[in-house]
Amino acid sequence: MPVVIAREGRIAVVTIDNPPVNALSQALRQDLFDAAESLDGDGDVDAVVLICAGRTFIAGADVNEFGKPPQPPHLPDVVSRVERAAKPWIAAVHGSALGGGLEVALGCRFRVATASASLGLPEVKLGLVPGAGGTVRLPRLVGAAAAVEMVTGGAPVDARKAAAMGLVDHVVDGDLRSFAVEFAQDVVGKPLPRPIADRAVAAVGDGFWEAAEKTVGAKAKREIAPLRALACLRKASEASFDAAMAFERETFLELRGSPQAAALRHVFFAERAASRPAELAGIASRDIRSAAVIGGGTMGAGIAAALRDAGLPVILIERDTAAVERGLANIRGIFDAAVKRGRLTAEAAAARMAGVSGGDDYRLLADTDLVIEAVFEDLAVKHAVFATLSAVCRPNAVLATNTSYLDPERIGEGIAGPERFLGLHFFSPAQVMKLLEIVPTAATAPDVLATGSALARLLGKIPVRAGICDGFIGNRILKVTRAQAERLLLSGATPAAVDAAMRAFGLPMGPFEAQDLGGLDIAAFQRQAARARGETPFAPVADRLCEMGRFGQKAGAGWYDYADGGRTPSPSPVVEQVVAELGDGKTRRHWDEASIADAIILPVVNEGAAILRDGVALRPADIDLVKIHGYGFPRWRGGPMHHAEQRGLQAVVEILRQLADEGLADPPGQGLLQAAAAGDFSSALAQ
Ligand code: NAD
Repeated sequence: MPVVIAREGRIAVVTIDNPPVNALSQALRQDLFDAAESLDGDGDVDAVVLICAGRTFIAGADVNEFGKPPQPPHLPDVVSRVERAAKPWIAAVHGSALGGGLEVALGCRFRVATASASLGLPEVKLGLVPGAGGTVRLPRLVGAAAAVEMVTGGAPVDARKAAAMGLVDHVVDGDLRSFAVEFAQDVVGKPLPRPIADRAVAAVGDGFWEAAEKTVGAKAKREIAPLRALACLRKASEASFDAAMAFERETFLELRGSPQAAALRHVFFAERAASRPAELAGIASRDIRSAAVIGGGTMGAGIAAALRDAGLPVILIERDTAAVERGLANIRGIFDAAVKRGRLTAEAAAARMAGVSGGDDYRLLADTDLVIEAVFEDLAVKHAVFATLSAVCRPNAVLATNTSYLDPERIGEGIAGPERFLGLHFFSPAQVMKLLEIVPTAATAPDVLATGSALARLLGKIPVRAGICDGFIGNRILKVTRAQAERLLLSGATPAAVDAAMRAFGLPMGPFEAQDLGGLDIAAFQRQAARARGETPFAPVADRLCEMGRFGQKAGAGWYDYADGGRTPSPSPVVEQVVAELGDGKTRRHWDEASIADAIILPVVNEGAAILRDGVALRPADIDLVKIHGYGFPRWRGGPMHHAEQRGLQAVVEILRQLADEGLADPPGQGLLQAAAAGDFSSALAQ
C-alpha cells in the first residue's frame, strides 16, 4: 500500500511510501483520494499531516505512465478532494515537491518544508503545462509575477525562497514530522485561510501580460510549452477558477500529444538510460575522491573547474612553473567569470580556487584517484605523459585521455595496467558543456567504465559511450555537417542563408558562424593529418580561406568579415569570390530554409546510422544526446535520429537520394536503409 495512515492524538498522519521517489502512480492517486474520504468521516481526527517516506516528497508524475492514457482518479480530482476536505491538510515537504507533487501540496491548506527542500512545476521542460491546477492555484497563492517565473521557466525554488514568496508557511529546522504534527495541533480550532481555489489572483499592472509574453516568447524561441503555460496563468487571473481549470486541462491534454512533448520525453528517457547504462548494471565504480588534470590550457582548465564545481580536490600538472601559473590563472579566470555573471559568490569562487594546487612534479599524483590528460594533441607528447603517470600513480588510479581525434588504443600502448585507461572526451567549454563521451579501449575494465559514468553523474554531465573511430561520435558527425555546409555554398546558398536557416531550425548558431567563433585552424590541422593518412576530407572553401589566413573572428575574417576587430559578421565579397571560383555553376539551385535544414541534418542522420551500424554508438538515442548536449541541437526536436524517425525514415531516404543525385550529399548508407526497412533505428539494431 503506497499510503499508510497513523494517529498522533487527534492528528492523522498520512504517509506516502512509494519508492523510489513517491511518484503519483494510479494506485497512489486512488489511495490519497480514499484517505481524504475516510478521514473526513472520522470524528476522532481534527487535522491531517501529509508526509512522505524515503528521500523525497512526491517528486512528480509516474514516468511509467508517460504518454499513456490517464487512468482515474485523475490528479485534478484528487487535489480538489484534498482541498475540499472537512479538516485542514498540512503538507510536510522534504526533498523535492515537483509537478504533481507540488500540485498536491497546493491542495493542502498549509505547507511546511525542510530548509533543503525544493519546490517547482517543471512541466514545460517536458513540453507540457501543469495538469492538476498548478497554473491556477500557484498565482492565487504567490501572485502572477512569481508564478510566471516558476511555471514558464520550470526551475524549482528552494524552501527559503518559497517561504519568502508565500508558497511555504514555515521552513522547518528540526524534525519535519513532529513539527508538522505540532503545527497541525496549533491550527485546530483557529480560523483557517480559505482554500486556494476560493481566492483571487492579486491584480497585476497594465501591460503585465503583454510584457510577460514578450519576455517568455523571446526565451522560449520555438518551444511552445512556455507560452502556453503563460496563457494558462493569464486565464487563471482573468477567468473563474473553474474556467481556468478547464482551460489548463485542455491545454495539458493537447500538449501531451504534441511532437515537442514526445521529443522532450524521448530526451528525458535517453538521459536516464545514458546516465545509468544497462550494460554496466551491478558493476561498482571505483572511488573517486581526488583528481588531477595534466595540461592547464583551454580544456584542462575547464575540466579542472568542472571537477572543483563537483567538490573534488584537483591537482594541475603543467610543463614548468610558468605554465603552472598560466594554467592556474586560466582556472581562476573561469571562476572570476562565473562571479561576474552572478553564478558564483566571490567567497565560493575563492573556495573553489583554494581546492586547486599546481606543480610540474608528477610525484604530486602518488595518491590521486583519477588523472585526466589534456595536453597537446600529439601522440608522442601524450605517450610521454602516460609513461610518467604509469610510474608515479597508484596501480588502481584511473587514467584518462581527453583526446579529440587520436586513437586511444595508441595512446594507451605501454601503460602499466591498461585496464584502468580510457578516453574521457569533454566538450569545450568543459565546465559548461554537459556531454562527456566515454571511450573505452579493448583493455578498459568494466569497473573503470562504470567509474567514467559515475564521474559524469558527479559532474552533472551526460555520459555517452563511444567506440573508437576518427572523431568518436560527435566530431565524426561534425565533419559531415561542415562538408554539407560547403556543398550548399557551392550550389548557390550563402553563409548567411545557411546560418539563418539553422538558427530557424532551432540551433543557437549556424555552421559558419560557429566556425568563425571557434577558429578555422584546428579543423584545417585535422584535415592535414587526415590527408597524411591518405584520406580526402572535403573542405575546398575552408582550405582556401585558411590559406588566406581567414581563421575566423580572431583573425578579423573567416566565413564573414569582421570590421575593426568587432564580432559583428558581414557578408564577405572575398568568400563570395572564392565560392564562385570553386563552384562549377551547374548545380546552383534555390535554397529555402527548409531545404537547407534538410541538406544539413539528414546527412547527419545518415552518418548517425553508419555510426550505429559500426557499433561506435550503442543506441540511436545516444547520438541524439551527443548532438543536444555537445552541439546545441534543439532539445525539443529530440535530436537528429528522433527527428528523422518523426519525419519517417523512408521520406528521409528519398530526400537523401535526391540530394545525392544532384551531387549534394552521400547516398543513404546501409545503416539508414536497414532502419528505414525495419521502421526505426532500434528495430534495425535488434535484427
Ligand atoms: P591547449 O593548447 O589549450 O592546452 C594544452 C596544454 O597542455 C598547454 O597549457 C600546455 O602547456 C600543456 N602541456 C603540453 N605538454 C605537456 C606536458 N608534457 N605536461 C604537462 N602539460 C603539458 O590545448 P586544448 O585545446 O586544451 O586541448 C588539449 C587536449 O584536449 C587535446 O588533446 C585536444 O585534442 C583535446 N580537446 C580539445 C577540445 C577543444 O575544443 N579545444 C575539445 C575536446 C578535446
